Amino acid sequence: MKTALEWKRYYSSPEFKDRYLYNGNDLGVSCSDSGTSFKLWSPSADSVTLNLYHGGSGQNLYKSIPMRKEEKGVWSWRAEENMHGVYYDFTVETEGEKVCSADPYAKACGVNGRRSMAVDLRRTDPEGWENDRAPEKGTEQFIYELHVKEFSWDASGGFPEEYRGKYKAFTCRDTTLYNDGIHATGLSYLRDLGVTHVQIMPAYDYGSVDEAGKDTEFNWGYDPVNYNVPEGSYSTDPEHGEVRIREMKEMIHSLHEQGFRVIMDVVYNHTYVLDSWFQRTAPWYFYRVFDNGRISNGSACGNDVASEREMCAKYILESVLYWTEEYHVDGFRFDLMGLLDVELMNRIRRALDERYGKGEKLMFGEPWAADATAMEGDAVPALKANIGLLDENIGMFCDDTRDAVKGSALKIHKPGFINGAEDKEDDIINGVSAWTVSGVKAPSQIITYVSAHDNQTLWDKLTETLPEADEEERMRLNRMAAALYMTCQGTLFFLSGEEFARTKDGMEDSFNAPIALNRLDWEKAWENRELVEYYKGLIALRRQLPGLCDKSAKASERIHDAVKEENAVSFLVDNRTKDGRERWQTLKVVYNSSRTPRTVDLEGDGWSILCDGTDSRLWEKEHPVRGKLYIAPQSVLVMGRTEEDMGQSDEESVWRKQAV
Ligand code: CA
Repeated sequence: MKTALEWKRYYSSPEFKDRYLYNGNDLGVSCSDSGTSFKLWSPSADSVTLNLYHGGSGQNLYKSIPMRKEEKGVWSWRAEENMHGVYYDFTVETEGEKVCSADPYAKACGVNGRRSMAVDLRRTDPEGWENDRAPEKGTEQFIYELHVKEFSWDASGGFPEEYRGKYKAFTCRDTTLYNDGIHATGLSYLRDLGVTHVQIMPAYDYGSVDEAGKDTEFNWGYDPVNYNVPEGSYSTDPEHGEVRIREMKEMIHSLHEQGFRVIMDVVYNHTYVLDSWFQRTAPWYFYRVFDNGRISNGSACGNDVASEREMCAKYILESVLYWTEEYHVDGFRFDLMGLLDVELMNRIRRALDERYGKGEKLMFGEPWAADATAMEGDAVPALKANIGLLDENIGMFCDDTRDAVKGSALKIHKPGFINGAEDKEDDIINGVSAWTVSGVKAPSQIITYVSAHDNQTLWDKLTETLPEADEEERMRLNRMAAALYMTCQGTLFFLSGEEFARTKDGMEDSFNAPIALNRLDWEKAWENRELVEYYKGLIALRRQLPGLCDKSAKASERIHDAVKEENAVSFLVDNRTKDGRERWQTLKVVYNSSRTPRTVDLEGDGWSILCDGTDSRLWEKEHPVRGKLYIAPQSVLVMGRTEEDMGQSDEESVWRKQAV
């Protein structure tokens, strides 16, 4: 058998590229009443046998059929009948060695994804699917990161027992706390909260949970086995390949109907194991290797997918398009995007724009890698440093803002601006204008956030960095963090439960911790309802602040007159719109992270308080202010100025009375 390096040289040769790059889009199985076609790209195979089974597991092989070698390394076989529900795999013989492999291009599979299934996709559509439409995009996006199992696992959510932890839980309407009929949970709660996008953590078929095992098994799922198949452990029946497909579509349909767009978390940068279907059908084609023969491991998960290779790029592009077309997915979050290449990311962007309209589908990712990777040729990694090469509608998680606000995610004891660090004021003001000062093209390229599934929750980070602080102070800082990032430009994102002080008992990366630690505790959402209300008010306010929602390249010009002092930052925002329908023409935002109050001077008249450190709904009524104002310790103050109101009010406001 050739070594990895020998394979790599072979795949890079012009001769290989000439003979084996396949342009068709029919790899895998196409299955309908007009017949069933099986096609596998396996350019180095000497023979490929198609094995047919009655089931997705067990000894039920009923036929083995030699496949025919076509051009460009494609092996094929075709039947005239609709073979929906037939399970299959391949025996691939390469250089005298035979291996058994499921289909890397599979659209359905049996339990644990070990065997593929022929699927007539039209038979998997739930009722009403043909009319499924995403809700309108709206003025601003608020992305809420959710894990399928975490969402409905806890009894407090009030979901039916058989749906807890499953796709099906998302089809439940009007769920309430322990079914009390009063306190909303689930999607009703999320609708009240005001988020617009639900980001589903990995829901393609992954390998770290035994689908036939105990229901308490848990993993985040960043370990892909079948990229184009839904995960089975979230279905009510992982043994029958069509069920998970139908149920995932039901989930998306219900999310759409209840007003949410759906973002899929995709992990094209590595596979669960190196001994994958890719590797078994095209040895080393889909993986990176260093020139010294060392296996590339920039993912820290044992392998790096070679996105820059033609057939691999094609695979990833087609996979993304498949999820949009077949499952109506509205956006993608690319795990370790820094391991994928810029050209591929821009190509995906163009393809989505052509099909669905410019920027209609969201695209963003983590602009980093865990380690060095052996990207080939002149491919450029989609890292933060290369943001200028990416399309303006490809976003990146902004670790700079995240760390500036609450402290480094990786160095857990390190605080940020709100919890005691010094000299963060520059980073904070740069974060407000979405880092356009450092090469970011527009706020559309920035995901502004302070918590995600990785690292500690915001609440735990505050506890970690301020062990002496009481609950009241931590709540104050949680509100401050929220008000701070929600008054920054960029697309807003947060981990589910951030709004109710979610805790994982300080654990940094809970990817394989028990579900009991990871589950969303809906009781806590009720207990901490004051914090939830604060988030709700912020979200509702943000929608009315076009100056901050602006995603265009010129948005940063709206931020002006920034003042930086020790533990304080303030700035003005040009909040005007072309149609002049904005409620406030100018905003003034003040961040005070010190433990003492401050004063702030307002120039001119017509100002009203929109949000302070405890109430994010002040904008619902007029709260006129003028002159010198008091800003509470560890808080954010947002004011809006309406020009037509100028000089009309002499009313002494609460804030005037509190003026120092
Ligand atoms: Ca699985």
